[in-house]
Amino acid sequence: MGVLTLNELKQGIMHLLYPRLCEGCNRQLLEGEEVLCIGCATELPETGYHAIAGNETEQRFAGRFPFVRATSYCYFTEDGLLQHLLHGLKYTTKKDIADFLGKRFAQQLAVTDWISTVDEIIAVPLHPDKEAARGYNQSHLLCLTMGAVLHKPVSEGNLVRVRATESQTNKNRAERTENMAGAFGLKDKKGMEGKHILIVDDVLTTGATIEACALAVLEAAGARVSIATIGITV
Ligand SMILES: [Zn+2]
Repeated sequence: MGVLTLNELKQGIMHLLYPRLCEGCNRQLLEGEEVLCIGCATELPETGYHAIAGNETEQRFAGRFPFVRATSYCYFTEDGLLQHLLHGLKYTTKKDIADFLGKRFAQQLAVTDWISTVDEIIAVPLHPDKEAARGYNQSHLLCLTMGAVLHKPVSEGNLVRVRATESQTNKNRAERTENMAGAFGLKDKKGMEGKHILIVDDVLTTGATIEACALAVLEAAGARVSIATIGITV
């Protein structure tokens, strides 16, 4: 008969008191499973874009600003599994979801050639009102996990909103781009000179916000940008 260590005993009791449930199917998670059970994890609609030059994410930014590479981890559909996870990440403070998605995405990026040239990771800033209400920026949480897996520093507080913007809801791409133009700036341009910056956001729709962030980063002399989003709308 095996002897339980005190830690194993504690863990067992915690699992009994607070069973961890799969975000996809609500079944109890097994040891070693995080956020999703193995079955639901295989259902995640991964794009595989990290290994494909000219992928849909890159096409969406083509001609708008110069970038090294752009990729998205999963397809985002209304009421899909990714939408559910990202909703949980935004509204229920489930930081384990940021860890789960950030880790899986970063593990894919880690095997690409281009990621080795990235110097720093940076999150698209939230609207200050939203961040105040939520208490955190979900894209920054993703950056922290991705930075840990990829061994890259995460920049915080350099890319900031310099102008208030209207809600993007009910605006088309041209209107969104106009609304976001000049909305961001760098506090410390020198600090980003000559660097390759990976800009991270949760979902890519028209890309107007990311475009405005990229243009702000590119104001630093010799800076280059790449883009990584967890979801891409299809
Ligand atoms: Zn499940």
